[in-house]
Amino acid sequence: MARRKLIAGNWKMNGSLAALAELDTIATAAAAAPNVDVAIAVPATLIAPAHARVPSLAIGAEDVHEADSGAHTGCVSASMVREAGAAFTIVGHSERRGDQHETSHDAYMKSAAAHRQGLTVILCVGETQAERDAGRAERVVQAQIEKSLPDDAHADWLTLAYEPRWAIGTGWTPSMEDIAAMHAIARAKLRQMIGDTALDMRILYGGSLTGANAAEILALENVDGALVGGASLTADKFVPIIEAAKAQST
Ligand code: PEP
Repeated sequence: MARRKLIAGNWKMNGSLAALAELDTIATAAAAAPNVDVAIAVPATLIAPAHARVPSLAIGAEDVHEADSGAHTGCVSASMVREAGAAFTIVGHSERRGDQHETSHDAYMKSAAAHRQGLTVILCVGETQAERDAGRAERVVQAQIEKSLPDDAHADWLTLAYEPRWAIGTGWTPSMEDIAAMHAIARAKLRQMIGDTALDMRILYGGSLTGANAAEILALENVDGALVGGASLTADKFVPIIEAAKAQST
């Protein structure tokens, strides 16, 4: 079946109220690409002003806590970001797995919490350079999916993102063959876990995707869109990616 492409930005710990002006042009490009879904995850402090500024654009969080509320100083819950205007959240991003030592079980719990509160989820998996060099990339990604995918995961509310950690923010990307191979492995793993509904689930590629390589990567089988870090910060870099997805969608 045809899966709509999703182009999702991730501002990480970047941006400001002034930077939200970029969203005006991004929202215009998104409106001109009705066959593509466009979304932007922003720092928690920017969710409400971003949503107020461009209500037509899906604004999301970059992380949520696994609990709905409680004594967790400095954290934000899914219900809080939802109230602020978030439609989705990223979960299990490699920078959280690395910097905050989050595990696949944490990603599982957070995905479930987000779903409980009505958010859709972009669940990230991906191997390190050392794991790839050791020939373990495939097994690592399969294990991450196995441990982080909620039991009731469904394409209606969950999107997987394959993001090789060594490709994030580095300017390096895997070969087209390697991207296609890992997406096929991820699709097979999803199918083993949730059956044929896995055929409806989107699998995004993330890692140094730009306007220059978007068309080639987005054309690969089982690549249903992109999670974009650096190139999502400004409209001049992000809009060409939306347009590349638009050109490939019917
Ligand atoms: C990301 O942070 O998810 C990402 C893919 O970053 P970049 O596009 O900068 O590599």
